[in-house]
Amino acid sequence: MDKGLLVVISGPSGAGKGTIYQRVIERTGMKRSVSVTTRKPREGEVEGVNYYFRTEEEYQQMIAAGEFLETAAVYNNFYGTPKAPVFENLDNGYDVLFEVDVHGAKSIKKKYPEAIAIFVMTPDFETLEQRLRGRGTESEDSLKTRLGAAKRELGKYEMFDYIVFNDDAEQAIGDVLDIINAEKRKVKNNVSVIKQLLGQN
Ligand code: 5GP
Repeated sequence: MDKGLLVVISGPSGAGKGTIYQRVIERTGMKRSVSVTTRKPREGEVEGVNYYFRTEEEYQQMIAAGEFLETAAVYNNFYGTPKAPVFENLDNGYDVLFEVDVHGAKSIKKKYPEAIAIFVMTPDFETLEQRLRGRGTESEDSLKTRLGAAKRELGKYEMFDYIVFNDDAEQAIGDVLDIINAEKRKVKNNVSVIKQLLGQN
C-alpha cells in the first residue's frame, strides 16, 4: 500500500487557514491532526475536536515523554502535534492534513521532508489587518503582534511548496484541493498500485 500524504496548511493568523482546513477535511475526508495546546478554549471550541486542552504541567510531561512531532510556543501558549496518530494514519494509506503556524510547518518539514507545505496568505497585509479586527477576538496588543509575525512568516516563503492567496474563500479552497489532487496523482505516490496492476507485488 502506498503511504498517505502529509499536507501542512500554514500562514499568518487571520489569513483564513482555519476555514480552508475545515472545508478541505469535509470535502476530502482527510484525517485531521488534533493539536494539544495550553491556551484556554474559546467559546464553542470542543475538547478533542479543535484541540486537546492541557495544563502547562501536563504539556511538559508530554514533551518529556517524547510524544510530539513538533511543539512550539505561540503567543505565550504552547501548541504541539502528537506524533503517534500521524504516522499510524500515513502508514495505513490515509492522507493527513495539518494546520499549524510557520514554525510548526518548518519542524514538520525537517522531520518529514515528504510533507507538502502550503502557505495561505491574504492578497495583502491591509486585508489581513481588517480580518483580524473583524474577528474581534484579539486585543490591540495581540493584533500588533500577529501583524508583525505575519511579515516574518511570509519572509520564510522558501520552505513552502505552494502559496494560496485567500481573496475569495471558495477559490482558495479550490486551489488547495487542486494541489492535493495533483500531489495524489504523482507517480511516486502510486508505485504500489502500479506494481499491483503489473502483477509485481
Ligand atoms: P489559535 O490560538 O488562534 O488557535 O492558534 C494560534 C496559532 O497556533 C495558529 O497560527 C495555529 O495555526 C498555531 N497552531 C495550532 N496548532 C499548532 C500545533 O500543533 N503546532 C504549532 N506549531 N502551531 C499550532
